[in-house]
Order: sequence, then structure tokens, then C-alpha cells
Amino acid sequence: MDQGAPKPRRVEPERSVESLSGVGPRIAERLASLGIETVRDLVEHIPRAYLDWDEAASFADLAVGQEATVRCKLARIRVRPTRRRNLKVVEGVVVDAAGVEEKVVWFNQAHLAKLAPGTELLLHGTRDLNGFKVTRHELGGVGVHTLGLVPEYPATEALPSYRIRSLVEAALPLARRLPDPLPAELRAREGLPLRADAIAAAHRPESIEDAEAARARLGLEELLLLQLGFVRRREALAQEARATALGEPGELLDRYRTALPFTLTPEQEEAIAQIDSDLSGERPMQRLLQGDVGSGKTVVALYALLRAVEHGRQGALMAPTETLAEQHFLTVEPICAELGVRVSLQTGSVKHDLEGAEILVGTHALIQEGVALDDLAVAVIDEQHRFGVEQRRALAEGRSAHVLHMTATPIPRTLAQTVYGDLDVTEIARPPRGRQPVITSWVSHERSAEAYTRLCRHLDDGRQAYVVCPLVSESETIEARAAEQEADRLRRAELRGYRVGSLHGRLRSAERRALMDEFKRGDLDVLVATTVIEVGVDVPNATIMIVQEADRFGLAQLHQLRGRVGRGAEQSYCLLVSRPKEELTEEAQRRLQALVDTNDGFALAEVDLELRGEGQLLGTRQSGLGDLKFVRLARDRQLIVKARELAERLLDEDEEVLDPLVREAERIENHRGFA
Ligand code: ADP
Ligand code: MG
Repeated sequence: MDQGAPKPRRVEPERSVESLSGVGPRIAERLASLGIETVRDLVEHIPRAYLDWDEAASFADLAVGQEATVRCKLARIRVRPTRRRNLKVVEGVVVDAAGVEEKVVWFNQAHLAKLAPGTELLLHGTRDLNGFKVTRHELGGVGVHTLGLVPEYPATEALPSYRIRSLVEAALPLARRLPDPLPAELRAREGLPLRADAIAAAHRPESIEDAEAARARLGLEELLLLQLGFVRRREALAQEARATALGEPGELLDRYRTALPFTLTPEQEEAIAQIDSDLSGERPMQRLLQGDVGSGKTVVALYALLRAVEHGRQGALMAPTETLAEQHFLTVEPICAELGVRVSLQTGSVKHDLEGAEILVGTHALIQEGVALDDLAVAVIDEQHRFGVEQRRALAEGRSAHVLHMTATPIPRTLAQTVYGDLDVTEIARPPRGRQPVITSWVSHERSAEAYTRLCRHLDDGRQAYVVCPLVSESETIEARAAEQEADRLRRAELRGYRVGSLHGRLRSAERRALMDEFKRGDLDVLVATTVIEVGVDVPNATIMIVQEADRFGLAQLHQLRGRVGRGAEQSYCLLVSRPKEELTEEAQRRLQALVDTNDGFALAEVDLELRGEGQLLGTRQSGLGDLKFVRLARDRQLIVKARELAERLLDEDEEVLDPLVREAERIENHRGFA
């Protein structure tokens, strides 16, 4: 140990809440259930809202049903006997400043009966026909808990908001000892208050605006630190890792463009230009390609893979499930054969000959089983949010490949920059021209017979269809059996006379492939499927889909499922069958209505965000975003953008300015178990 170095002073705010006077193990335990362990946690536990309570001059001014706070003096008080043993009613008579007498009632606060007549009170509650029902009171006339802006804390039954408030009050002075990671110069430039002042203002604001500004200050800092972590990690990667610079696209890519039966859309061209620019350098590409289902991402991904092949190296395309990997293989293989490029499929159950393969398609088994990827120059990871952060990192760090992540669950760009802050983001916002948006209807269960009649009409016209079975959460086996049974039932009932196959996750890989081939060739009319068809299945002749019990699926999932139709030139339809509207939760209704209203994945992602909250959004959990204390993603778009800009600018600043920020960013990362 270096004797000369000063011992770091023990910062009190980092101590357990029990170091506060009046907080014992019992309260500490209740605080812990809210995620509050240290004094710091406590002062950083800011209100989620504020009540604004006015004082009424007199009970006489209150209408029945009106809520208010009234200043008064106790005349008399007693516990009123009731028959119910666990119900204690305390009844009092009080006199307000105007001399008006009022009967007031508390429930389950028997100890109040000991209050002496003449005690000054502030009572908050509601006037009803029998008097005034008190929901909150305080002794004396100051009005901390019953007047003005009253903070509402995230609380529990055992530890209600007003108790938290008292605890916070006691701890607040210690907030001054917490470091303020924002450099003074930045604070001055951006007009930001000191951290301790922001914390104090969040707990006891002078106005709602005051409170909001305080939260925004804390949120900005939080986002800034998160972004700095991302940017730093990205820079570190760029410094350590070297990828092969792939130069300019050449003859193979020309042939690829010619072989495609269509011309690329401007959006696809733009994505390709960005990828080309990434690939031309040694810094490993770390790009996220966002685009709705059917927006033409795979075409772009194959372009990137072929760039590796052209350079005499390998490309790998990885998917989260075997079905998806097989689908990709089926898509990629024919065009590669035409170009003379050898493709191999590699999943847990299928191991093709890898000898001489130039493009490998597989599940993450590709990385896990350490397939020789030494020659790997470009990796495409489809639906990357399903890959663990670890797998992503293994690929990115170990092999020094250029990595393109693809997601068909687009999230708003600003959010993507936070969630996937260590990636560059490209989006394909518009699908290829000429494609008609899928028409979606929402049908109640009683009318599902009509839905099948419509479906059969498509089949009679030579089209194909999907029926998606209800979501079963217990297990894949049970779900598989349910799908088989439903297919059997439909063969005997609504779909009698048609060729019906059932697709689910329990099929062996070869069976699944055979089934998909059959469907693709048109030897099957209908696929009755579980959510395994969610991604990847691409049969342009399929023009109608019925989703059974659609209310049980998530918004993103339904949108993915819907993306299986509308892939050809024909008008396609998606019929969402659910229980009657009245029986659904409001959220389920809004979900289904949103799907009827729009085909735009980005718009749906916004709705999803609003309905489910940020923590639930796909992919955000593993990013640590769910742990943000001060940020409300749906509300704080501007803040996210600003934090990103600031983070990038800050990295050019001196060590001195950056140091406290970096240390804080590291503290937070360690705290989240990121490191
Ligand atoms: P994604 O991977 O984004 O879901 P795909 O790349 O699989 O989308 O494309 C969906 C369908 O659209 C495929 O059948 C593909 O051949 C077709 N497609 C892709 N790009 C174009 C384009 N520029 N013009 C016409 N069709 C296209
Ligand atoms: Mg695709």
C-alpha cells in the first residue's frame, strides 16, 4: 500500500440508512423493499408527483365531495365504538378560524383520542354529508404535509409517502456531501444548478416548474453518465480492436445488385453507404440496422456479408432461434448459389459441412461452440436484443469482426441511442415501394366464423394463409401440442378440404424445413403456427392471417406476426380475433386499436412505450436502462438527445473536467454489475 496517499474520507451518504437517527432495522427493511439502502439512495428517491393543496378558509366554504386542507382547533375527541373489531373510528369536533364547528372522522388512528382539546390542527380530507373525513393531518399550524406542494413518493403500504418524506427531510442535509460529477464549467454553460440544490428542490420545490427543472437536471446527469460509459466503451473498443479494412465494393457486389430482382430503395442505398463507409476502415463496425418487418434489411445484411466474401474472408449471419436461422438460410442460399458463393447452415441440430463455406448462417451456437471464425470479417446479428450482452461482446471483442446488428423491433431513434448507446444507428424507415400496407381488422370472438370465411376466400383464389394459435406461456411442449390440436380441429371444421400444416418450436429442424419448403412451394394452403413464425418467414403468396386470442400478445409481437403477410404485391389482411371489447383491459384495447390504426412500426413502438413504460420495452432491460432513477424516457426525449451531444463534446475536454464524470460513470456501472 502506498502510505503517502491520503485515505479516502468515508462519505457518510454512502452509509446505511440505519446511520440516520430514528431509523432502526424495521424501517431499514421497509426502505430496502423500495430499493433504498444507503442515505444516498434515500435522498435520491425523488417524488414521482406532487399534490398541490390549498388552504380553505372555513369548512363552511366546502361543498360536499370537495377535498381541502383546513386550519382548526380541536374541541373534543373520542374513539367511537364499532362492531367491527379491526375498525377503529375516531370522531372529533373542531372549530375553524371562522368559528364554524365541524364533525371530523379518522379511521384506525385510535391514538389520536389522546389529543388535548385546544390542539391546533391542519386537516386534509373530504367533506361528505356526515362531516369531514380526514386523510392526512398534522399538529400545529406549519403545514409541511398538508399544505402547498406535497410530494408523493413511490411508497409501500408499510411505508407511506408522508413517512418517506420525514425520513428524506432528516437525510437531506447529507446530500450536500455527495459529489457533483458535473464540472462547474458545464453547469455554468448549460445553466444547471448544483446537484445538491436540485435534489433539495426535487424534494421541496417551490413550484411544479421548480420540481420539474430539478428532475431534469438530475436526469440529464444520469443520461450523460450513461452515454459517457457507452461512448468510452466504444472508443476503447475502437482502440483495442482492429478489424480488416475491406476497401471499396467490387465486382461481386455489382453482380449481387444485378442478380436482385428489384432495385434497392433510397433507404437501402443509404444504409449500404453507411455500411461501406464503416467497412472501409479498421475500426470495427458496430452498427444497428433498425427497420420494420419487410423493410428490406436482409438484402442489406447480405450485402455486408458479401463484402467479406469478396475480400476472401468469411461472413456470418446469426439468428436467435433455429427456425429463424433456417429461414435466413433459405433466403440467402439461392442468390448466393447464383453468385457462386458457398453458404453453410450451422445450428444446434444441423451441422453442415463447413469446409470452404464463405457465409455461415446459424444460431448463436456459431459463437458458443467456437466455430473457427478466424476468417470472419463481417458478422450480422439478427434480432440482436435477444442475444445476451455477453454474447454480443464476445463477438465484438474477441474476433474483431465488423458487426451489423439488425432489429425488426424498431424503437424511437432517440431511445435507440440510449438503449444501444454503444452502437451507431441506421434506420430503414420506409418499406420498398409498391407494397401495400396490410389491412388490419379487429374481430370479436363471436364473429370468428366470418374471419375464417374470408380466409377461405383467399385460399380459393390460390393464396395462402397463416393462423396463429393462442399464446401459451407454460412451455414450448404444451404450446406445440396446442398448435397440433388446433390444426387438427381446423382440418375437421373451418378449414376442411384445405391442406393445413402446423408449425411450432418442437418440430425437429429437418421437419421444420421440410414444412416450410412445402408451404413455400404452395403444397400447403395454411400454416397453423405458434409465434415461431414471428420473424423470418417470407412467403409473398400468403395474404391473410388470423391471430387467435390476439389480446394476449404484446404489441411488438403482433406487429411482427402481421409482418408475415403483405410481402407480395397483393393486398393483404390481418384479422385480430379477441374476446369482446368490454371484457378486455383498457391497455389491451388500445394495443389492438393501435394495430388497426397504423402499420408503422416506429409509431407502434411509441404507443408501446407509452402503454408499457420504458422498463418493459424490448431490449431495454439488459441495457441497465430500467435502473435510471430520474429519467422518464417517454417524456425526456429532448434530454436524451442533449445528453448524447454533451457526452460526445465532453470527451474532447481535459482530463480534469472529465475525471469526476468518469469516476461517477464507473461507480454507476459497477453498481449495476456491468463491469
Ligand atoms: P426484412 O428483413 O427487413 O424483414 P427483407 O429483406 O426480408 O425484409 O425483405 C422483405 C421482402 O421484400 C423480401 O421478399 C425481399 O425480397 C423484398 N424486397 C427487399 N428489398 C426490396 C426492394 N428494394 N424492392 C422490392 N422488394 C424488396
Ligand atoms: Mg427478414
